[in-house]
Amino acid sequence: MSFQLPDLPYNFDALEPHIDSKTMQIHHGKHHAGYTNKLNTAIAGTDLEGKTIEDILKNLDMNNTAVRNNGGGYFNHSLFWEIMGPNCGGKPEGQLAAAIDRDFGSFDEFKSNFSSAAGTRFGSGWAWLCVDLNGGLEVCSTANQDNPLMPGECGKTPILGLDVWEHAYYLNYQNRRPDYVAAFFSVINWVKVSENYNSAIN
Ligand code: MN
Repeated sequence: MSFQLPDLPYNFDALEPHIDSKTMQIHHGKHHAGYTNKLNTAIAGTDLEGKTIEDILKNLDMNNTAVRNNGGGYFNHSLFWEIMGPNCGGKPEGQLAAAIDRDFGSFDEFKSNFSSAAGTRFGSGWAWLCVDLNGGLEVCSTANQDNPLMPGECGKTPILGLDVWEHAYYLNYQNRRPDYVAAFFSVINWVKVSENYNSAIN
């Protein structure tokens, strides 16, 4: 039983003009495919084979570089594709919207907090919106392909993630990471993020 590269839930050009088709093709077809293949190689014949990716990340030996980098890369990108979409953006509704207002003060405060986490992550990494078992929200960021579920990180469940590796934006935005972060808010699929929120607390 090995991990499979998930199909994109939309076409490569579906997120234009915010994220360009060429970037999506390379990001999904080369980068994510590479993490998936290398994860499968790294766990083949070990006791990690057959476990869920969440189980692997939560109980990870952080010195196991191959599983740390490629297991993180597999999980992080699988979430990333799902929480974006065409004709998205805007704001969340319902329970998640109420939780954002409660924990950050307002949606704009959350946006500022998350954008800051994405902008100030030095080098490669991710910005996250995470939830605890009681529904409490927190913004954090991780380096490289690390993930909030891994030992030493916040330990909460990521429900929204933004890839700030240069491979995620350089073709279209070059060094302008803040412009890419701003554009990301036009493609967030809040319906999916709300589903992630609800399933994490139930
Ligand atoms: Mn990436």
